[in-house]
Amino acid sequence: MKVKMMQVGPIATNCYILEDEQAHAAAIIDPGDEADRILSVMEGEDVSVEYILLTHGHYDHTTAVPQLHEAYPQAKIYIHHADSYGAGSRLFPLASQVEGLLTYDEGDRLTLGELTIEVLHTPGHSKGSVTLRVGDVLFTGDTLFSGSCGRTDLAGGSYEEILASLKRLGELEGNFHVLPGHEGTSNLDQERKFNPYMREAMAH
Ligand SMILES: [Zn+2]
Repeated sequence: MKVKMMQVGPIATNCYILEDEQAHAAAIIDPGDEADRILSVMEGEDVSVEYILLTHGHYDHTTAVPQLHEAYPQAKIYIHHADSYGAGSRLFPLASQVEGLLTYDEGDRLTLGELTIEVLHTPGHSKGSVTLRVGDVLFTGDTLFSGSCGRTDLAGGSYEEILASLKRLGELEGNFHVLPGHEGTSNLDQERKFNPYMREAMAH
């Protein structure tokens, strides 16, 4: 398993390329912008893109989807159904441009070569925010950041819900690498100890 991170777009969204090197298969997680740059990075990778996975529907995580869909028509595109349409068009405004958009939900599992990608529904930043668990890695989107959490004042946001989601992540057994949707990476033990939002959530 290999993970590459690149920051894209005006508010530096973390786009991740997840690969099973044996199977030469990849998933692109949160292609938020700069499709051309993502495509040129992918040219250097000896993989076929099987999935485009979205942690939630905000434009800064999804803007490059239509262009990547054109480049990789075989790749399946997944988003949680609660973020897949409408809501004042802030939630995945590009949904109408992407044919065959698929939705995933709590407990779904996707197979990428030998890897299993498990979907945890972690609402609060948006109704359809998910965390993707792969081995000892959590792709937390805008639910959990290093030392912080996503804002809850946008459409569909809820502080109560994000606390419940953070509690749930905090209660996962063992340590995990935390790969968030913005800023630096972390691990779950660090967050349990030092993230004030996760500490508040776990004290509930
Ligand atoms: Zn967001």
